[in-house]
Amino acid sequence: MRYLFLLAALLPAAAQDVRKITILHSNDLHARLLPDSNQLGGFAHLATAVRNERKGCTGCLYVHAGDLVQGTPVSTLFKGTPVYHVANKLKFDAHTLGNHEFDYAYTQIPVFLKAAKFPVVSANIVDERGKLMAPRPYLIKKVNGVRVAILGAAMTDLVQGFLTPRTAGPYRALPVVETMAKYAKEARGKADLVVVLGHIHQKEGSQIIQDVPEVNVVVEGHNHAGRKELEQVDGRVAVGCQGYGRDLCKLELEVDRKQKKLVSWKWTRIPIEAKRIAAAKDVQKQVDKWEKKVAEMVDVKIGESRREFNQAEFRPLIEKAMLEEMKADFTHMNSGGVRDRLPRGEIRARHIWNIMPFDNRMMTAKVKGAAIPAALRKDKRVEAEREYTIALPDYVATNESQVKSLGIVGIRFAETDIYLRDVIIEWVKKQKVLQ
Ligand SMILES: [Zn+2]
Repeated sequence: MRYLFLLAALLPAAAQDVRKITILHSNDLHARLLPDSNQLGGFAHLATAVRNERKGCTGCLYVHAGDLVQGTPVSTLFKGTPVYHVANKLKFDAHTLGNHEFDYAYTQIPVFLKAAKFPVVSANIVDERGKLMAPRPYLIKKVNGVRVAILGAAMTDLVQGFLTPRTAGPYRALPVVETMAKYAKEARGKADLVVVLGHIHQKEGSQIIQDVPEVNVVVEGHNHAGRKELEQVDGRVAVGCQGYGRDLCKLELEVDRKQKKLVSWKWTRIPIEAKRIAAAKDVQKQVDKWEKKVAEMVDVKIGESRREFNQAEFRPLIEKAMLEEMKADFTHMNSGGVRDRLPRGEIRARHIWNIMPFDNRMMTAKVKGAAIPAALRKDKRVEAEREYTIALPDYVATNESQVKSLGIVGIRFAETDIYLRDVIIEWVKKQKVLQ
């Protein structure tokens, strides 16, 4: 006892001001209320894990780095709001807006903000007058005596890379690194630790810890694989968890309050195995209530699959479905739009909803063969003067970077009322068996 006391007295003053905190984090839960087919994830199981961690923890925070909605029928059918209601049970200390929060158009985000009983931070999504979309750019929360500033961020190419004019409305993202630098400087005066909660590209997360010395920690979302290892630059760290709640990530820190620096860090993942971690009853009750509402609509058999198709294998089938159902000559499905694999066995409409959760509608254009770009033509032969039909999901036909990469700038597409998801469902029904 006496020895310990002496040791403490000999340490420099600053070292005595070291406190422990823990940042629990998730990202890209994507409305996966239930565990997946490998029995991983599920909001009720995740809730149990979070509650267990909080119990034994001094200075615990739990944050979510964006893309809470979109990915299952419950989200699509009810425009995301139920997911915010169930997420209230997870009691995030902060959540930031991801690109998919815009999927039901920018007009739905105020509805989310109203439903959320947790704070939402976002510092770089602004309208044409520079007004923030979120109620606040950052918040400061004191845990175990450490004042932690949490800044919300979205990727710089939010609009160009992921949204369409209809979904983005007047909103755009300011350059993420510069904007974080600005707010981090401001927040650092009032906080001992600055955390960026970013729905951003990993390279942007790396750049923030390299270029912005005022930021101590970056907690990322968007990349569903997450980071394999924590990245560290001069005592500043970046982490990112797997999507869909398949694990809960835990960043244990020692913070020097005087120096406003990290003394140590340890990053671990807790797998959310539904068989091992019991569902929290109160959360499961809400999950069941919503899932029951959608079951009648989507748990109907539409066909059978003799094998499993992963996303890359299912993509050509979507293209085939678009060509045949839309009676078109050319089409293209963006690989990022295929959101789930198709398991072997009975195909239910639900599977197609999981593969295609977006309410993307078909658009068509009639063009002369000479005007069809190589990216659409692939190895098909065309007659220069003949007229052909192109059918594309509206996302592909109107998102800036998709339009550029396909080379369809200037081609005018007409809207239809036909949902891509229904195109796939109808096509699967006609095939009866996929192999
Ligand atoms: Zn995302």
